Amino acid sequence: MRWPAVVITGGAGFLGSHLCERFLAEGYDVYCVDNFLTGVVANVEHLMASDRFRLIRADVSQHLVLPGAMDAVLHFASPASPTDYLRLPIDTLRVGSNGTFNALELAKEKGARFVLASTSETYGDPLVHPQPETYWGNVNPVGPRGVYDEAKRFAEAMTTAFRRACGVDTAILRIFNTFGPRMRPFDGRAIPTFIRQALLGEPITVSGDGTQTRSICYVDDLVEGIFRVLNSDFSGPINLGNPHEISMLALAQWIKELAGSDSEIAFVPRPEDDPKIRRPDITLAQTRLGWTPKTPIEDGLRYTIAWFQEHSQLWTDSKLARTSL
Ligand code: NAD
Repeated sequence: MRWPAVVITGGAGFLGSHLCERFLAEGYDVYCVDNFLTGVVANVEHLMASDRFRLIRADVSQHLVLPGAMDAVLHFASPASPTDYLRLPIDTLRVGSNGTFNALELAKEKGARFVLASTSETYGDPLVHPQPETYWGNVNPVGPRGVYDEAKRFAEAMTTAFRRACGVDTAILRIFNTFGPRMRPFDGRAIPTFIRQALLGEPITVSGDGTQTRSICYVDDLVEGIFRVLNSDFSGPINLGNPHEISMLALAQWIKELAGSDSEIAFVPRPEDDPKIRRPDITLAQTRLGWTPKTPIEDGLRYTIAWFQEHSQLWTDSKLARTSL
């Protein structure tokens, strides 16, 4: 008998590293494939001692060939924060297109179940609220964020084509904003930015008037949802996220308070095409998978702030952090 084997592309990133941990704990052989475009070895270093964990440096947009039997391919490789995909537009489009194609080909060859990490960004600046899976979205293909949103929409179409035309067992996840330990302090997403600024006593920069909302999910809850999707026969698309919706200003104030910071709140211009509202309708995940996020947001924020405090050597020297993270 052999262990079940899972390939996790983007496994050295924020979400990927938590997935590697979970699948190892569940008894899988884990093949973590990453080119370290935005991920770091430090995220998975603690897993290296396991002989069921393999770290493979490869660009999945170029090729993805692995020997042996595989039961699942989780395709998580992609720049994910606006700062990253705006500076890496071509890499983002390539990993959503060529990378997804290569990952699907691998799943087809191995007879493995394939799970695509798609995103709530496929809904764009939504005209329907909250967003159910049946909503087709409101995306500007030629706006700056189009490189990410359209890459993921294309990846969804490709995944569906492999299911329909080749019979590959696939699932599409539409992941909403998720946070937790191992986010990079300079990745530009609101929560790590606010925490870094609060801990350093710098102004906490809220864009626009801060009334725009996001719904934020703690990483452990998301990982549980992904695990359930993999072990179901559900093809999706399926929303995974926490419907707890909060304005950016309220989030900044909350983080400031939890971090015991006396930072001031500073208002900066809103990025182009920044969505005004965002909240998942998770009825499908609740009814089909019995999944619902359990971690109170305040607990999740406390864990994340504590992790940033414990790892301050990675980022308090901002010059070092910007080059090494
Ligand atoms: P991340 O940047 O921390 O991780 C992405 C990983 O993919 C990194 O380790 C990076 O080095 C790797 N990668 C990128 N291009 C690659 C390539 N061509 N070949 C091999 N590896 C490559 O981002 P994350 O937040 O962990 O996001 C992971 C996935 O989940 C992404 O696909 C993202 O679109 C999706 N997602 C994340 C969120 C969220 O809130 N974190 C929300 C929606 C969707």
